[in-house]
Amino acid sequence: MKLYNIKDHSEQVDFAQAVKQGLGREQGLFFPEQIAPLADVDGLLAKPLVERSAIILRHLLGDELPELAQLIANAFTFPAPLVQVAENQYALELFHGPTLAFKDFGGRFMAQCLTAVSDGKKITILTATSGDTGAAVAHAFYGLPNIEVVILYPKGKISPLQEKLFCTLGGNIRTVAVNGAFDDCQALVKQAFDDEELKLAIGLNSANSINISRLLAQVCYYFEAIAQLPVTKRAEAVIAVPSGNFGNLTAGLIAKALGLPVKRFIVATNANDTVPRYLQEGHWDPQATVATLSNAMDVSRPNNWPRVEELFRVKGWSLKALGAASRDDEQTRDALQRLYQQGYLCEPHGAIAWDVMQSSLCDQECGVFLCTAHPAKFKESVDSILGIDVELPAPLAERADLALLSEEMDVDFSALRDYLLRA
Ligand SMILES: *Cc1c(COP(=O)(O)O)cnc(C)c1O
Repeated sequence: MKLYNIKDHSEQVDFAQAVKQGLGREQGLFFPEQIAPLADVDGLLAKPLVERSAIILRHLLGDELPELAQLIANAFTFPAPLVQVAENQYALELFHGPTLAFKDFGGRFMAQCLTAVSDGKKITILTATSGDTGAAVAHAFYGLPNIEVVILYPKGKISPLQEKLFCTLGGNIRTVAVNGAFDDCQALVKQAFDDEELKLAIGLNSANSINISRLLAQVCYYFEAIAQLPVTKRAEAVIAVPSGNFGNLTAGLIAKALGLPVKRFIVATNANDTVPRYLQEGHWDPQATVATLSNAMDVSRPNNWPRVEELFRVKGWSLKALGAASRDDEQTRDALQRLYQQGYLCEPHGAIAWDVMQSSLCDQECGVFLCTAHPAKFKESVDSILGIDVELPAPLAERADLALLSEEMDVDFSALRDYLLRA
């Protein structure tokens, strides 16, 4: 697989290099040189998830990663069921993995790829988290050989359940509760990446969300969604994507470019609505990020957006075909309640996607909205909005009583540096 840097087309890398490197020069994103349509999409849709995904990714990767099928089997160990919530309305549940969010798909596949392309050299993954990403990264890399994971988070500023989910693992996962804010954690990580000597000594890698391997993994569950729709409805499928950094949408669009029958996509955001405003008014005008109920989408400068534009450009598609709308917290609460009355328990991110979708579906169209997290992951708000007591699913319940293994640290780079070198 050949990829080029969107900001500088002369920088070209293979898949292995893109996985190791993450970003190109000038912080440019890597983009596939070619996305050729698959030969027999109907035939593929008849196959099970893991087998089908191996065929799709083999088509994209060419002769790289001979062990690809095994990596996919290691990563995709949980299903993505499509659940009907009304006539012509379906939820694609992407939260049945170990950390109960769709990020498990991309995180787990990236961990497998990174291990496979690192030639047995030691890698240290260093990442800062305000909750979700840390959990997905920790679980994805847990127990993998030659990989050390260090996760920084602001002490006392993430939910107790979140903390239990990734700070009780031990083994190759080390967690650090920093006496500061999330921004302090991020600044410490940045300082570490600026330290060339340290970088080399411990094989520093960020495993962050712009890594191309994540997107490729996510392409696979769009095929899984269509595969589960009744055959007669496939030609009318419309997919609504709750979006923050727009990686999820990018993956859906790549699936369409590969020949998946999707009539159109709809972007759904919270009050951080840079993209819906851009599509309606034509100005790229990010505003200060605001905190919302759907906090995983609190992003006003989405880092995958250049990939979306690049794909529309190379395919000759019109951005006008992309539906988009936003919902504020008031509307989110209301949507969550209506969906619950309809018999489906959701959480704020999925509820926004559903609401935007149902208000834009035409007759005959069949809507699929992506449910990106388990309702229990947002238990506090879901319980209070719906007046219920959401049950904890096994991955959370199992860890709720385990002891936290985190170390405490002040916002002090030399302390972090020593800690990293001590591994
Ligand atoms: C990360 C996340 C999103 C946003 O996905 P993007 O790919 O960044 O657009 C939506 N919902 C949940 C629950 C998330 O964790």
